[in-house]
Amino acid sequence: MYLGRDCGMPAFQYADLPSIQRTLDKYHIDTALLHAFACRSLDATQGNRILFDAVAGDPRLVPCPAVLPNSELEVGDEPDFVDRLIRDGARCVCLYPNTHGTTLDARIVGPLMNALQDRRLPIAVFEAEWLDVASLASAYPHLPVIVHAPLARNRTLLPILRTTPNLYISIAPRFARYRALEVIVQQCGPDRLLLASGYPISEPGAPIGYLFYSDLNDEAVARIARDNLLELLDRVDVRADAPAKRVATFRAGDSSANSSQPAGLACHVWRREPVPLPGIVDMHAHYGNVPAFAVWRADVDQRLREMDRIGIEKVFLSRSGVGSPEVVLANDQVLEAMRRCPRRILGYATCYPINDDLGLGEIRRCIDAGMQGVKLHSAAGLAYTDPRYAPIWQYADEQRLPVLLHTWGVLTELEPLFERYRSAPVLLAHAGAAEPESYVAYAHKYPNVYLELCFSGAPYGVIEYFVHELGAGRMLFGSDSPYMSIQQQLGRVLFADIAEDDKEAILVDNPKRILHHHRT
Ligand SMILES: [Zn+2]
Repeated sequence: MYLGRDCGMPAFQYADLPSIQRTLDKYHIDTALLHAFACRSLDATQGNRILFDAVAGDPRLVPCPAVLPNSELEVGDEPDFVDRLIRDGARCVCLYPNTHGTTLDARIVGPLMNALQDRRLPIAVFEAEWLDVASLASAYPHLPVIVHAPLARNRTLLPILRTTPNLYISIAPRFARYRALEVIVQQCGPDRLLLASGYPISEPGAPIGYLFYSDLNDEAVARIARDNLLELLDRVDVRADAPAKRVATFRAGDSSANSSQPAGLACHVWRREPVPLPGIVDMHAHYGNVPAFAVWRADVDQRLREMDRIGIEKVFLSRSGVGSPEVVLANDQVLEAMRRCPRRILGYATCYPINDDLGLGEIRRCIDAGMQGVKLHSAAGLAYTDPRYAPIWQYADEQRLPVLLHTWGVLTELEPLFERYRSAPVLLAHAGAAEPESYVAYAHKYPNVYLELCFSGAPYGVIEYFVHELGAGRMLFGSDSPYMSIQQQLGRVLFADIAEDDKEAILVDNPKRILHHHRT
C-alpha cells in the first residue's frame, strides 16, 4: 500500500490514514507494508519521515521506507542507516533506482545491500528490469529481494525463480498472467509469492480475486496471503535492544473474515465458491498461443473448468495474434472451439483486410458459421479508420454486430467511426487504462459506445468513476484471458464500491442486451 498521492494520478487515487484504515477493514488485511509516495515526489528522507509518523497511528501498518546508498554522503554509513530504519520500525525497505538517480550496480549499492543482508531486512525493488533484480538477488543470496508486480511476460520467469531462492514476487495488479500462480506453485512451491493490494494505485480486489479464485489449495493460498510475508518480517534481525513492532496477521479467507464480510457478491471470492449469478459473460478473451510469452494450458476444457470454478457462463473469444495475416487459420481455430461447446463459447471474427478474401469475405464467412462479433486490433498495423476497414464497419453496422476495438486511451481519431456507425455496439477494450475521462465523454455522446474494462493494471477507483459519471449500463466485464487472469479481472468488479445491481449489469445484463441486439 501507498500513502499520499503519486504524480500524475487522478484525484480518486489518493490514500490518507483514514482511507487506508477503511481499506484494511474492507479487505480484512491485518498487516500491510506501507510506502509513502512522498519518497518519490519529494525526497526519500522527507518521505520516510511522513511514513514513520503515519504508521504510528495503526499497528497493522509496517513502514517500508525508501533506501539510498551513501554514495553521495547523504544518509550516513549504510550499517548505521539500516540500523536506524529498523529501530524506527521498518521491517522491509524499498528502492527506486530511477527516481533516486541510482542503480543496482554493486559498486554503488554494494555496501547498502551488504548492510541489508546482514540484518536480513527485505528489499522491494521498483523501477527495474526483472532480470536485473534477479541478478541483484543472486549477488546477495541471504537478502530477501521482492519484485513488485514484475511484468515478466516473456519466457524468463520460471528459470529465474527456480535458481534464485531469495527472490519473491508480489502479486499486486499487473502481475496477472493466466494460471501463473498455479504454475509457479507447482514448479517452485508456494513460498515465493506475496499478496499485495497496490492501494490506492490499483484495486485490491484484483489480486484477491486472482489468489482466492485460483486453483491452489487453501494451504497455498494462506501462505501467499499471509504466512510468507510474516515469516520474512519475523526473520529480520532487529537486535535485542530494538523495540518490538507488533505484527498482526492477515485474516482474509479465515472463517472469522467470512462472518464479518457483508453480504454481496464479493463474499463468494473469500469463500472460494462460484459467483451465484447466472449468465455472466466474459466479453473479451482470446484463444490460442501468442508469440511473446508462454500461455499455460488454455485449451477449451481448461477454460471451461475455470469458468465453472468461478461462475462464468460464457466467454467471447477471438484468436490470439488477432493482427496476423493467418486469419483464416486463426478464425477456424475459434470456430472449432465454439463447436466444442456452442452454448458457452462465442466467437469474434477477425480479418486482415488487404483484399476481400481476407477482409469482408473472411468476416462474412465467420459470421455465417456462427460467430457473433468482430474484433479489430491495432496490432494489424492499420488504423481503425483505414478505408480498408470501411466495408467491415458497414457490414457490422448493418448486422448490428458488436465490434471490439483494442484501445489505450487515445480516442479522438475514432470519433468519425462513432459518428458514422450508430447501430453496431462499439466496445472499447481496456477502457480506463489511460484517460478515463475521454471514455466517459464519448460514451455520453454516442449511445452505442460501451466500455470494456479488462486491464491487468486494475486501476483503483476507475470502475466506481465510470459508474458515477456514466452509469453501469454501458460497462462490460472482460478478462483478456489467456494472456491475463480471468479471476483477477472478475475480482475487480466484485469488490468495486458500487451497487450490487450495477455489478449485475456489468457482468450479465449488458452483455445479454448486446448479444440480443445482433440481427440474426
Ligand atoms: Zn485482448
